[in-house]
Amino acid sequence: MKIPLVDPQAENAPLEAELTAAFQRVLRSGQFILGPEVTAFEEQCAQFLNVKHALTVSSGTDALILGLMALDIKPGDEVLCPAFTFFATAGSIARLGAIPVFVDVALDDFNFDLTDARKKITPMTKAILPVHLFGQAADMDGIIALAKEFDLTILEDCAQAIGATYRGTNVGTIGNFGAYSFFPTKNLGAFGDAGLLVTNDDTLADQAKLLRNHGAKERYYHERVGGNFRLDALQCAMLAVKLPHLSAYTAARQANAAFYLKELAGIEGLIRPTAHDHNGHIWNQFTIRLTQPGSRDALKKQLAHADISSEVYYPVPLHRQQCFAHLPLAVCPNAETLATQVLSIPVYPQLSATNRMLVAKGLVLG
Ligand SMILES: *Cc1c(COP(=O)(O)O)cnc(C)c1O
Repeated sequence: MKIPLVDPQAENAPLEAELTAAFQRVLRSGQFILGPEVTAFEEQCAQFLNVKHALTVSSGTDALILGLMALDIKPGDEVLCPAFTFFATAGSIARLGAIPVFVDVALDDFNFDLTDARKKITPMTKAILPVHLFGQAADMDGIIALAKEFDLTILEDCAQAIGATYRGTNVGTIGNFGAYSFFPTKNLGAFGDAGLLVTNDDTLADQAKLLRNHGAKERYYHERVGGNFRLDALQCAMLAVKLPHLSAYTAARQANAAFYLKELAGIEGLIRPTAHDHNGHIWNQFTIRLTQPGSRDALKKQLAHADISSEVYYPVPLHRQQCFAHLPLAVCPNAETLATQVLSIPVYPQLSATNRMLVAKGLVLG
C-alpha cells in the first residue's frame, strides 16, 4: 500500500455524516453568499485564533491580495518577501503592480533572514510579507522591530501555519494582517478553494470587508474598486464542522514530527528541521535536508520505489522564476541551496505508527 504525502480522504471520512448535514442545511436554506453560516464560521475562527476580526475569503491567495489592497499597496511599491516559499506570496504582490523584493531565508528553519531583509530596504519599501513556512513562525520580534524602524506594514502569510504560535501568540495576529489558506491539503482543509484574513485593527477590518465585496458597503454604491473575494456559505458550513478537530490534527502532526526528530538523529548527510523552543510548530510539512550533491534526488527515487510519497517544496526559488526575470536578480544563496537539498515526507495526522516507521527506515540511503 502506497504511503501518501497527505490524505484528506482519511480526515474527512469520519466526519461524513456531519458534513452531509451541513451541506443539506445550506442547500435547504437557499442562502449561498454571505449570511449566517459565513458569520458563524468567522466568529469560530476569531475565537480559535484569539483575534478581533476574521474575514473568510475565496482562497489563501485572495487573502494575501485583499490584505495588500487594504494596506493600500500601490503599483511601484516594494514589498519584502522570502525567496523560498510558495509562489502566491510573491504573486499576490505582483498582481497589485507592486514589486516583490526577494529576501533570503535561514538554512536551519527556512524562514526570513532579517539581516538580509534590512539590506534590501529602500525608500520605496512599504511592507513586509513574512511567511511562517512549513508551520513554524518566523522571527516576529525582529520583523516588528524592522517594520517600526522603517515605517512598514506587516502582512503575515500564515497559509501553512494555522494555530502556530510565536512566544505564545497565534501567528497572523501579530502584524497588521494575517492571511490563511484552507486549500484541501493545508492543516485545515476545505472542499475546494478557501481562505481567511484576520486583523485586530478595526479600520483595516472595515477596509478589507469593503474591498471583499466590490468596495461597496451599500449595494451599488462603490467607495473603492475592490473585487469579489467572498467565500461560499457552503464552504463555511463544512469548515465549521472541521475546525473543532484542528487541535487534535495538530497534536497528531506534532507526535509524528517528534517521532521523526528522534528516529532520524545521526543519519549521515541528513539534516533534520529546526524547531525553535519559543515556537508552537504545527508541522504543515516535515522537511529534511540532504547535503551530499545528488543525494536528495536519489533518496526521493528510493522512497518512490518503496511506495512512499515525498515532495520537493520548493524546487525553484522565487527570484529564479521566469515571470520575475524582468526584476533585478536578487542575491539569495540559501534559498538556492535549499532548492537542491529539501525533501518533505509524510507527517499528516492520520499517518499510522507502522507507516511512519516505514518512512523513517526508508530514509537511509541504500
Ligand atoms: C497555499 C499557500 C498560499 C496560497 O493559498 P491558496 O489557498 O492555495 O490560494 C499562499 N502562501 C503559502 C505559503 C502557501 O503555502
